[in-house]
Amino acid sequence: MGIYEQLHLKTLVNALGTVTRIGGSLMPMAVRQAMMEAGEHYVEINTLHKAAGEHIAKLVGAEACCITCGAAAGLAISTAACIARDNDAHRLQLPDTTGLRNEVLVLKCHRILYDQALLLAGARFMEVGRTSGALPAQVESAISERTAAFFYASEAEPMRGSIPLEEIAPLMKEHGIPVIVDAAAELPPKANLTRFLERGADLVVFSGGKEIRGPQSSGLILGRRDLIEACDACCCPNYGVGRSMKIDKETIAGITKAVELFVARDYDEQGRIWTDMSRRMAAAIERTGKAQVRLGHPQEPGIQPVGILRVYIAPAHQTARAVHDALLTLDPQLYTDVQGGELVLNPQCLAESEIDYVITSVCDAL
Ligand SMILES: *Cc1c(COP(=O)(O)O)cnc(C)c1O
Repeated sequence: MGIYEQLHLKTLVNALGTVTRIGGSLMPMAVRQAMMEAGEHYVEINTLHKAAGEHIAKLVGAEACCITCGAAAGLAISTAACIARDNDAHRLQLPDTTGLRNEVLVLKCHRILYDQALLLAGARFMEVGRTSGALPAQVESAISERTAAFFYASEAEPMRGSIPLEEIAPLMKEHGIPVIVDAAAELPPKANLTRFLERGADLVVFSGGKEIRGPQSSGLILGRRDLIEACDACCCPNYGVGRSMKIDKETIAGITKAVELFVARDYDEQGRIWTDMSRRMAAAIERTGKAQVRLGHPQEPGIQPVGILRVYIAPAHQTARAVHDALLTLDPQLYTDVQGGELVLNPQCLAESEIDYVITSVCDAL
């Protein structure tokens, strides 16, 4: 009997994407194998954490890497590192920031639900501009002695009130203020692993449990060596903000193997597979005549990754929400998304063997 069965739980079919609340992504066998092997021996965690970080940095072409227990933990640890830098006393004082610089600058339209993670390190946000607009001059005048970092949410970059990273980064560099980018779900394309650093970021945070297909509780901070060393110092088993965000030997092994596989994966081929899945689902659902069906990419900020072609379905006889809810009552449950009145199917987490089930279920529900 499997563990889910033992707990009386049903597994589900995921046409939604790499979403944490339904399990993120599935780890390839080689990743699970690496985790099992890591669990068979004792090892010094700091040494393993550093060695694996260096290995990943080399693989992806970044200066340095700190492995964390998720992108959100990566944001908290990055912030702690930017506040404390190489000062051990300051690191141990956090999240109490009495006497320390603790302000993080952020464009107003870059406030996202995940940014609470930065507050865990003791930071306070200094919002710049309005939701509808901000000027580089406003950013510059917000800088003070108290500024510890600039937070940039990659998903908010296309918004009207945003400023390109290329304009923010040099301004911050001039004042010695590190720029932290949240790019947790911006993969694929693979090139995004280093693109934000090339565009001027000092630290960039990714989820290990989304398209990288590593352990769910894994993440990466990539970037400048001195800051990554400060991040490492904040991480478990050391004392600091990261002590309550433990990263274990099995997870370190799993994310290391997952990054190896991720950088070697052929995303031209993977893209063709996803496109083909979406086309087949769209064609079959269109044939029912019970919905307007189109193929496309997400337009709303915050839905990542944008590069994967999805199916958008406008039901003729009921709301997309009603169809979505009906699909959740099936056995197995089918998870989809609703965006702007359309039901959305994302092929990213679907197996070839599940496509027929998705088609039949959606057609029936329509
Ligand atoms: C998923 C996500 C996170 C959190 O990542 P975890 O690895 O689950 O901690 C943070 N920011 C954004 C934009 C995300 O999409």
